Amino acid sequence: MTAKLIKGTEIREEILEEITQEVKEIKAKHGVVPGLVTILVGANPASISYVTLKIQTAHRVGFNEVQDNQSPDISEADLLALIDKYNKDDSINGILVQLPLPKHIDEKKVLNAIDPDKDVDGFHPVNVGRLMIGGSEVKFPPCTPFGIQEMIVRAGVETSGAEVVVVGRSNIVGKPIANMMVQKGPGANSTVTIVHTRTKDLASHCKRADILIVAAGVPDLVKPEWIKPGACVIDVGVNRVGEKVSEKTGKKIAILKGDVDFEAAKEIAGYITPVPGGVGPMTITMLMLNTLKSLKFKLGLM
Ligand code: NAD
Repeated sequence: MTAKLIKGTEIREEILEEITQEVKEIKAKHGVVPGLVTILVGANPASISYVTLKIQTAHRVGFNEVQDNQSPDISEADLLALIDKYNKDDSINGILVQLPLPKHIDEKKVLNAIDPDKDVDGFHPVNVGRLMIGGSEVKFPPCTPFGIQEMIVRAGVETSGAEVVVVGRSNIVGKPIANMMVQKGPGANSTVTIVHTRTKDLASHCKRADILIVAAGVPDLVKPEWIKPGACVIDVGVNRVGEKVSEKTGKKIAILKGDVDFEAAKEIAGYITPVPGGVGPMTITMLMLNTLKSLKFKLGLM
């Protein structure tokens, strides 16, 4: 059997198109568009490329996008004052602080200073709590798990009553996606197991999974014989395993591999996400959706 590919690149286009249409409608009816500010401290090349992609995507869907670049010498107090300014700015619905921050700044303090109603990354403790409560309490699911759930739903995979096994217990992927899948409601209602580095028999848990979500950061961790025939396999892992020369640009680029042995797994699974082009493109897409939601909450449309 060859699994159906769940392509993040295609789902991203669908969702960004939906957001663009909704932004146009809100603009026509209410005279406003979502506002997203990205605060970048310093000039870390990887951070610059992430921020640029976020800003370009925000621009594409019709948001008011603000890129606020700050010197690496900015004091913690000045950065907190800047966040306070955007917290009070009515035209801003989402505030992103690109990590990592310079060592003299307490990241936790800065992230916790963001108004939870503008925390479109969904990492503020208030939003983590809202996610745990579930239902109408939830405002901003963290973007990668939100993208994973959306991929499963859009692929038409039944989640109600499904055995979901999540490999990894990080705060940004493993724990939140497990929490989301166990909730009462559409795209969830699953029976969830989380496995991690201290789990005794990883293989036996994975073999039970109707939906296997792997976020470990270990190339080829999941072997084909661990996959239940017909299962939906979501490979979140992004591992750099070497370099190659790009055919398009002639420049050296990283060779990426997921946490699942894709070539073998696709012959057993019913659905599978590729790496790259699977979960990766979903994160920024869901960031846009969260920013749109933030404006809709404010306008009483949600
Ligand atoms: P993390 O290092 O914070 O957490 C990894 C988790 O996997 C840990 O809880 C650990 O217990 C578990 N783990 C590691 N090795 C294991 C093993 N051998 N057996 C069982 N469990 C094991 O990583 P993270 O931030 O959750 O990211 C995980 C992977 O997902 C990484 O490859 C990362 O690059 C990728 N990622 C991709 C996206 C995206 O595509 N948008 C977003 C976030 C993370």
